[in-house]
Amino acid sequence: MFEFENMLHDEFIELPFKIMFLTVVFIFGICIGSFLNVVIIRLPRHESLIKRASHCMTCGTKIRPIDLIPVFSWLFLRGRCHSCGEKISPRYPIVESLNGIMYVLTFIVLDINAKAIITCILMSLLIVVGFMDWDTHEIDMIVVGLIFVLAIPAAIFTDDVELVHRVIGALAISVPFFIIGEVSRPIIRKKFNEDFRAIELGDTILMFAAGALLGTQAVIVSALIGIIAAAVCGIILKVITKDSKFAFGPYLSIGIAAAMLWGNQIAQWYIGLLTYEPQ
Ligand SMILES: [Zn+2]
Repeated sequence: MFEFENMLHDEFIELPFKIMFLTVVFIFGICIGSFLNVVIIRLPRHESLIKRASHCMTCGTKIRPIDLIPVFSWLFLRGRCHSCGEKISPRYPIVESLNGIMYVLTFIVLDINAKAIITCILMSLLIVVGFMDWDTHEIDMIVVGLIFVLAIPAAIFTDDVELVHRVIGALAISVPFFIIGEVSRPIIRKKFNEDFRAIELGDTILMFAAGALLGTQAVIVSALIGIIAAAVCGIILKVITKDSKFAFGPYLSIGIAAAMLWGNQIAQWYIGLLTYEPQ
């Protein structure tokens, strides 16, 4: 960090330098995003993340190095495999650019410091959690474990959350989620004759890990944003797909990402609204 620390918000630093820095961050972000695609596809199948070279999902042809450039290769190939011409999912460039954009956004909001680096790692882990849950209705415990572990460097290198609020934060949402899950289980079994919970254990453990990282205020904000996003998108998706099964993880991930960037400001603003007294 040293001499670069908090340079982006420094008005005496030239704009071209800032743009150059953010461009490098974006390119780095889409390259990591390329690896996230591999993780999202291979982790649920328990395939090695590094052993086998990337290959076409249809014809199995090994992908040429020239076609492995994040985002740009997909655009250049117009979204088709160079060997069999089969469509390549737009998911690949979407995940890559999303990761690049989240890195850039993180540095713009937080500036260059330890919290920004921890947040970038979190953003990538959330992209994996969100897309994997969307695909498989399963939240991967290895990735959630990594989010929890991020609370350690956060506690050492940043000072915006007190240790006691990391403990309370871990419990603030996960405990109510657990209770809702337990209470809903017999009701769902009785009504639909199926064994699942209104809020799954995976979502509960995700909010435990996120709470340790975010602290009390921000984790409550993250859950509120997640619930609102899930309600809005859930209604829209239900109209389109008529599918009643529903992954909560992607929306919680959006909430956690937003709360990591703006959690305390949103909490202050909301508390300000509640305690507003007209003169
Ligand atoms: Zn192919």
